[in-house]
Amino acid sequence: MATDFITKPGSPPVVRARVKNHIELKRYRDFLTEIAFVDGLTQIPNRRRYDEFLDTEWRRAIRQESSLSMILMDIDHFKQFNDTYGHLEGDRCLQEVAAALEKTLHRPADLAARYGGEEFACLLPETDMTGAMHLAEKLRTAIEQLKLPHKSSLTAEYVTISVGVSSVMATTEQTSEDLFKLADKALYTAKETGRNKVVSANDCGD
Ligand code: GH3
Ligand code: MG
Ligand code: MG
Repeated sequence: MATDFITKPGSPPVVRARVKNHIELKRYRDFLTEIAFVDGLTQIPNRRRYDEFLDTEWRRAIRQESSLSMILMDIDHFKQFNDTYGHLEGDRCLQEVAAALEKTLHRPADLAARYGGEEFACLLPETDMTGAMHLAEKLRTAIEQLKLPHKSSLTAEYVTISVGVSSVMATTEQTSEDLFKLADKALYTAKETGRNKVVSANDCGD
């Protein structure tokens, strides 16, 4: 986009000053875009980025007749964690969990985001349920292996996550919200049946 123009012949110092000005503006714009889509606490993609990514990938999946998978994760007994260790330590825990999740994803096409409070979501384009379940179990194990002490957890000695997984062949008869609802239901089942586990939406029935 043109934001300035220089009449010929321009004096070199003026041209240099203007170019410098434009480079700074570009950097500032990039910076604003960056903070709009990154979660301030954990430095991973935020909910806004997740929504945008889901929208784009859902439409792509319809065009390509491919499957799209979602992994929803929620830290177990996190309220107890805050009550026991304090809110600051809770924040630090969220940072460690986010970093571990992001490190566990390997495909450049995959996205891990902070969905809300102590909830995280991964979107996996062109991935079926088998692949998504495999990754979900890797994510669950990665958090368990951080061995972040959680003495008031009723589930384990350490911080753990419950995980719900959904996968659909995208069609125009469904919306991306259906994908979310399925993963959310699976997550709820994981919580209800013991926590620190992965549940597939296929095993939740309807
Ligand atoms: P469950 O095992 O059923 O998931 O129980 P839970 O305690 O994890 O769930 P609940 O929804 O009752 O509590 C979530 C807690 O997450 C409460 C809230 O204070 C905390 N939380 C949300 N966002 C943040 C944050 O940014 N920092 C900190 N420290 N805590 C947060
Ligand atoms: Mg929650
Ligand atoms: Mg929780």
